[in-house]
Amino acid sequence: MIRCLACDSEDLEVPVAVQSALKNKLLGSMSKCVVCGSVNSTINHAELQKLYSTRDSSNYPNSGKLFLFLKRMSFKLITKRYFLGTKGQVIVDYGCGGGEFLNALSLSLRENKYLAVDLQDCRPKTLLPSIDYVSVKDFQEYGKVDVVILRHVIEHFSDPVGELQKIRNKLNEHGELLIECPVMESAWRVLMAEKWPGYFYPFHTFVPTTEGLNILMNRAGLRVNQLNKVEPPVFGVYFMYLKLPRTLARFLSIIFYPLQWVVSFVFLRSEAVLVRAMPIVE
Ligand SMILES: [Zn+2]
Repeated sequence: MIRCLACDSEDLEVPVAVQSALKNKLLGSMSKCVVCGSVNSTINHAELQKLYSTRDSSNYPNSGKLFLFLKRMSFKLITKRYFLGTKGQVIVDYGCGGGEFLNALSLSLRENKYLAVDLQDCRPKTLLPSIDYVSVKDFQEYGKVDVVILRHVIEHFSDPVGELQKIRNKLNEHGELLIECPVMESAWRVLMAEKWPGYFYPFHTFVPTTEGLNILMNRAGLRVNQLNKVEPPVFGVYFMYLKLPRTLARFLSIIFYPLQWVVSFVFLRSEAVLVRAMPIVE
């Protein structure tokens, strides 16, 4: 029996087929929660753990130089807005991947201390030497921190409430949690149907609605203070699902990005949301 990872309801609809991001598998299945509308993967958790046993097994494309540069530029534009005025804080990128986001952040706001956290024991080669690295396991021994960023991470957790509670306990008194993740409200989910990259089966265990995300945060003892719409590019993975070569898919994703933005804007939707949350003090 699977339960909704966002709201814990047992009331799930019949699973629907979604595109798989794994080359050797074409389809996976996810079922929609009747209560909050979030979708939940039907993959068994042991299978999921196997996917993350090595860094190389993750399906994220390795970035070429041009794309790394573009990524850095776009990160620079958003980081200033999100961290306006922060100084002397300990800022954590939890699930840092190659560390591109924290690299850009540390270069645009130099007066903070930065810590990268990920599953592996050894630090990513692409992470700047000025940034500290610890594994998820060792993070529990690390002191209190001011800001924890989870960029496209919670939708990978098999126990999001438990993980968020652990992270919440690492925040100091005025600490903040920043979470970015795809949401079911995306106009592109409707347009791309089972090939919507937001499903990213089997790597995503669930994809919340905005309502589901709010319920999840509350269950983890967090209060959402702010919710912003954000538009991470959606066409790159979509074109790879359509079997286009990776370089072409990435190139087209840049060309199509303005279209993505316009469609989301017209439908008053967004591909993802960024929430700022704080621990609920009892
Ligand atoms: Zn639910």
